[in-house]
Amino acid sequence: MSETGDEGTDVYADRRKQAATRLREANANGLVCVPSRNLQYLTGFDEEPGERHFLLAIPAAPDPDAENGPVMLVPALYETRVREETSVEDVRTWADGDDPVAAVRRLLADVGLREGRLLVDDTMWATFTQDLRTAAPDATWGLASEALAELRVRKDDAELAAMRAAADAADATVTDLRELGAGAVGMTERELATWIGDRLSAHGGDGVSFETIVGAGPNGAKPHHGRGDREIAAGEPVVLDFGTRVDGYPSDQTRTLVFDGEPPEEYERVHAVVREAQAAAVDAVEPGATAESIDRAARDVIEGAGYGDAFVHRTGHGVGLDVHEEPYVVAGNDRELEPGMVFSVEPGVYLDGRFGCRIEDLIVVTTEGCERLNRTDRGWR
Ligand code: ZN
Ligand code: ZN
Repeated sequence: MSETGDEGTDVYADRRKQAATRLREANANGLVCVPSRNLQYLTGFDEEPGERHFLLAIPAAPDPDAENGPVMLVPALYETRVREETSVEDVRTWADGDDPVAAVRRLLADVGLREGRLLVDDTMWATFTQDLRTAAPDATWGLASEALAELRVRKDDAELAAMRAAADAADATVTDLRELGAGAVGMTERELATWIGDRLSAHGGDGVSFETIVGAGPNGAKPHHGRGDREIAAGEPVVLDFGTRVDGYPSDQTRTLVFDGEPPEEYERVHAVVREAQAAAVDAVEPGATAESIDRAARDVIEGAGYGDAFVHRTGHGVGLDVHEEPYVVAGNDRELEPGMVFSVEPGVYLDGRFGCRIEDLIVVTTEGCERLNRTDRGWR
């Protein structure tokens, strides 16, 4: 993601302004983020959470006082990076050996956030929420997602371009896997996961967006099996669920392949059912459809084929800077789909002790219906 858009506007400053407006609408006085996907969304700064106090505070709009804008408090050793990589103008520091809670108290006082309702990052460690309570004892608390989830759920053109590129890298890796063919037989799940990570990087991806899942044979029947030491056998269905990142944005895709030989007889039928369910769900996507109706479209096919009890998870999840975010494609979620939303469609059937089958693509809702970000063949050979 470039820091400036086509018109030379600062996309991050624009997002901070929109967040300040959302805060007011959420009856919040302000927002406090730590290193997280929210902070990355609002500043472009990508950093793992750590034990040192590192905060972005945004007071709610309207902003009656020019001094009362976004402010960051960062460990001194981060100052140069933060000034180079973000457009936040008010950056304050504290040094190892200082009392960070006192620095937090001063910062909150300066921007008028020691009282009222404050939203904190959903993933903020409890140590930091405790220190915030100490620094602002009269405040009440809510979660940042109240104000930010609605902003993040519709992706802009730059975000979609990054996600298309990440999906292309995953698609190209599926092609590599098909060419590997019988060469995968005898590899362990772990070895194949490493191989997949290397191919994703070779196709322009930046690392993996989550730990690669390689579930061979009965391991594939555990939907969130990671990867182990099982050797892949000929004729064994292998669930392959992986993704990478481009410009911070992830892909997430699943194919279930048989690398050599003939699969169990029932597998061909199961694969056809899952593929039909996935197509039915994708076909049902259009603006105004509810998230739960997409789940229902996939589930109807699988239940109709008699495998309803073997489809043990929701049909999908939203994808953005977080690999799992709104909108969740699940029974009970009646939110209406809107253009720019991106989510996975990933029905599966899991036959305990035998094999699993899942097919997953990311799609983006468009004004007419949807666009698949993953286009590579969905067959099992
Ligand atoms: Zn996945
Ligand atoms: Zn997924």
